Amino acid sequence: MSYIKTKGIVIKEVNVGEADKIITILSGEYGKMAVVAKGARRLRSRLSACTQFLCYSSFLLFKGRDLHKINSCEMIESFSEAGNDLVKLTYAAHMADLIYDTVQENQPATKTLKLFLNTLHYLIKTDRSPGLVIKIFELRYLCILGYAPYVKGCINCLNETFEGLSFSFKKCGFVCNNENCVSIDPFMYKISPGTARAMHHIVYSSMDKLFNFELSKPVLAELSTIVDRFLREMLEKDYTKLKFLRDIEKI
Ligand SMILES: [Zn+2]
Repeated sequence: MSYIKTKGIVIKEVNVGEADKIITILSGEYGKMAVVAKGARRLRSRLSACTQFLCYSSFLLFKGRDLHKINSCEMIESFSEAGNDLVKLTYAAHMADLIYDTVQENQPATKTLKLFLNTLHYLIKTDRSPGLVIKIFELRYLCILGYAPYVKGCINCLNETFEGLSFSFKKCGFVCNNENCVSIDPFMYKISPGTARAMHHIVYSSMDKLFNFELSKPVLAELSTIVDRFLREMLEKDYTKLKFLRDIEKI
């Protein structure tokens, strides 16, 4: 029997039988992997800690055709304390959903894993605004998936500016207020220079500086409007977990 050794984070868990679980892990080398954790739901199981949602561990797996089986595992870092905060848990579950839907099996996902681990750190282990942290994740993740918008300036005349811009969903990028440029899309969304700068930073920043900024409430609201719609149009799916958060905010 052959073995696979890899590090991965649990992005989904499904209970099966009396005490087993099938977990999905995101691994840098192998992408999405479905793994059987025999007896993981037993109280004293040596697999119980590492197979929790959002645990990042080093796994030794028996290789199977469709499903792998855990031989042993050792926890590296756990983000499962998100379970104590409904808002943070919902954001983390939303990211896990996005990743589950878009990462393939047997395809390296090193950048996705790094972005997910970094985002979880800022979301769960710091007091940064979860609303901003999640928008940074979503836009940067779309770039990893190959949907980077044009954010250097105007996509039509290529004028490099952050002033007087709108975002065109049709053209996937910024458009300036020059007469010839405005006419390329009648349904653009006007954005402030702050939003333009934030989007440029999220698309181009190195990973270690990605989360190093704050936004005022109106700028974050504008960024959220753009990123929410861009995500929906690019992935052609409405992710409903965050709608639940908007609903409880209204109460
Ligand atoms: Zn222009």
